[in-house]
Amino acid sequence: MDMRATTAADAIAVEERWCARNYKPLPVVISRAKGVWLWDTDGRRYLDMMSAYSAVNTGHGHPRILAALQRQAEQVAVVSRAFHTDRLGPFLARLCDLTGLDGACPMNTGAEAVETAIKAARRWAGTVKGVARDQAEIIVAHGNFHGRTTTIVGFSSEAEYRDGFGPFAPGFCLVPYGDADALAAAITPNTAAVLLEPIQGEAGIVVPPAGYLAAVRRLCDQNNVLMILDEIQSGLGRTGRWFAHQHEGVKPDGLCLGKALGGGVLPVSAFVARRDVIGVFKPGNHGSTFGGNPLAAAVGLEALIVIEEEGLVQRSAELGEHLRRRLHALSSPLIRDVRGKGLWLGLEIDPARVSARAVCEDLMRRGVLSKETHETVIRLAPPLVITREELDWAVDRLAESLDALATSPSASVPAPA
Ligand SMILES: *Cc1c(COP(=O)(O)O)cnc(C)c1O
Repeated sequence: MDMRATTAADAIAVEERWCARNYKPLPVVISRAKGVWLWDTDGRRYLDMMSAYSAVNTGHGHPRILAALQRQAEQVAVVSRAFHTDRLGPFLARLCDLTGLDGACPMNTGAEAVETAIKAARRWAGTVKGVARDQAEIIVAHGNFHGRTTTIVGFSSEAEYRDGFGPFAPGFCLVPYGDADALAAAITPNTAAVLLEPIQGEAGIVVPPAGYLAAVRRLCDQNNVLMILDEIQSGLGRTGRWFAHQHEGVKPDGLCLGKALGGGVLPVSAFVARRDVIGVFKPGNHGSTFGGNPLAAAVGLEALIVIEEEGLVQRSAELGEHLRRRLHALSSPLIRDVRGKGLWLGLEIDPARVSARAVCEDLMRRGVLSKETHETVIRLAPPLVITREELDWAVDRLAESLDALATSPSASVPAPA
């Protein structure tokens, strides 16, 4: 039986028949991409305002990253950490230089980087801070998203992420996000770490009050608690700085990176930390078969070089400001709030008027792809290689869409024949 799909409808039907229904994709079937553009199986073109949740900061099919991928794939791709390779050191050296931290543990997915951070924090508590064995606590925030492993969803505040997946690991304490006093009150002698997103992505691009991260830094210093930031989505240029924590001039003790670290082609993640934190790992403690493989290391290094040499951090800051101004100027009755930093803005839609999903489906028909988060927020996060003209084109489509939906929430442009 030939399982290759022919039409878009076939592709969707085959996928839905065989794939677990753990996502609800927009009804579009992508078959090709370049830069900021995606094409569907019928050859229609869309501007990518999702960037795969920041995995594609350097754009689709970046020529330098593809060249590094191909070169390294032909040289040697995977050997496991049973042997050294000539690629891992240079990649992690660059990553540490960039973050100002001392050492890194390479992994693959974001969730694995967070798991690595949790394990490091717990061992650090036991071996450095002097917390009794297996008693370490980690403070996390309401609305957090750190991945999908059982430990991680166990400390989520979202019923949807947790429901039916318990029993969960103990040792986590939830506090309101953005409230430094609540955090101070939650710290005990057993607290190993505070784990936070500097801007909460999946919660709907939630920016904490100014001064929050600086206050967290002070509390961590005063109480000998590690400040661990998850910048898997916010890092590597997305917010207009290399890392979102730089907006407040703080430096974390541990940093989780992923998504864009894979240059839009591979899963590459890392936990980067202070020497005494990364130093808790000893041979046999922790690992990953694919973590730090030479293919991932070559791609990761090239992604960092591309972000640097193409000035993508600065571009994100400048075009992000432009995007913010244009969104504010839309003054649509459907928009309740515009928030975020750099090329990472969330548009809060009035759910009494129209659902964010309906806006995304309408935008899709106009050639712009984004995805709602939490029913009310539309994410606007293009690849950082986008030009001002391309960005303006997307905002013009958004303006048309909001206008059409404001007059008639059920009306939208007809699907192309
Ligand atoms: C996406 C994300 C993760 C999980 O990354 P995966 O690669 O999907 O495991 C963790 N933290 C944050 C902030 C994320 O946005």
